[in-house]
Amino acid sequence: MRPLLLWMARNRLLKRWLPRIWFVRRAVRRFMPGETVEEALDAAEFFRPHGIGILFTQLGENLADLSEAEAVADHYHGLLEMIAARGMDAEISVKPTQLGLDLDRDAAERLLSSLADHAAQRNGLVWLDMEGSAYTDATLDLYRSLKEKHPNFGICLQAYLRRTPADVHALLPLKPAIRMVKGAYDEPSSIAFRRKDEVDGAYQSLCVLMLPHAGSGDLRLGMGTHDTKLIERVAAHAEAVGVAKNVFEIQMLYGIRQKEQLRLALEGYRVLALVAYGEAWYAWYMRRLAERPANVLFALRQMFG
Ligand SMILES: Cc1cc2nc3c(=O)[nH]c(=O)nc-3n(C[C@H](O)[C@H](O)[C@H](O)COP(=O)(O)OP(=O)(O)OC[C@H]3O[C@@H](n4cnc5c(N)ncnc54)[C@H](O)[C@@H]3O)c2cc1C
Repeated sequence: MRPLLLWMARNRLLKRWLPRIWFVRRAVRRFMPGETVEEALDAAEFFRPHGIGILFTQLGENLADLSEAEAVADHYHGLLEMIAARGMDAEISVKPTQLGLDLDRDAAERLLSSLADHAAQRNGLVWLDMEGSAYTDATLDLYRSLKEKHPNFGICLQAYLRRTPADVHALLPLKPAIRMVKGAYDEPSSIAFRRKDEVDGAYQSLCVLMLPHAGSGDLRLGMGTHDTKLIERVAAHAEAVGVAKNVFEIQMLYGIRQKEQLRLALEGYRVLALVAYGEAWYAWYMRRLAERPANVLFALRQMFG
């Protein structure tokens, strides 16, 4: 099921036609409050009284033209203004190819730099999402270059990639912000773990490796996962080595395990909810279905009932 859904995520024809069907659009609502930024901002207000911070992302990837990247950057500048106007505890998370990484790297760097300058006015961070393995080197290279000039950049790393421990070691001297995720793309076994137990094991080892750096304040560590058992194992390890559990933050997606998000916030963890919105949701939504095949049944029920 997972490879099929990930294939569907990449298929151009399906990408063009499926989102036009009304009942598919209805099913997407589980993970996305709406297509507009206003809907995303309004939905995010739910989290405010619970002390849960927000990461906003406008969906979209692999653009055809650099002018689209400029429009995306303008959109995020507008969003930063709206976040400030609402006094919201929120940051932005962007896909490098949505800012033109695969069209013109220097232009992408320029657009991202201006977003970091803007976000810095309110001590905000700009997170770089990590896309498929074709972009890992380019994204890491971009991150290093941006981080030299702007301290307020974070990057997402994927535990399923065999290279990630080496990437963590290479990044640590930069005092980075790292969001560790398991990884959402279909990668070959030559470069990635494919079994769940292997991915989970790699994830836990990476967090354990990073905990002391988070404890000493040299790393902002975000655990981007809904796997609460894994979070608890890392928290237990933190306690065992004398690191407070609030040295790392937990980042989860809007619409997934919301009760757990509230519970963890109540228990004193720093929790952030990633709220995605926008018209280009198809590939992103298919990756969410692939993460949990039971979601397909849920989606079908939404579509037909
Ligand atoms: C804040 C955030 C940012 C992310 N950014 C990136 C990125 O930049 N690049 C990237 O490759 N990946 C990204 N991901 C996705 C990530 O790689 C995983 O694919 C995704 O988080 C599912 O894995 P899991 O860690 O939640 O663990 P799993 O072991 O997959 O899930 C643990 C439990 O969480 C629940 N769950 C997980 N996923 C779903 C779902 N889709 N629907 C319903 N329940 C679910 C289930 O109860 C499941 O048993 C991001 C994830 C988060 C939370």
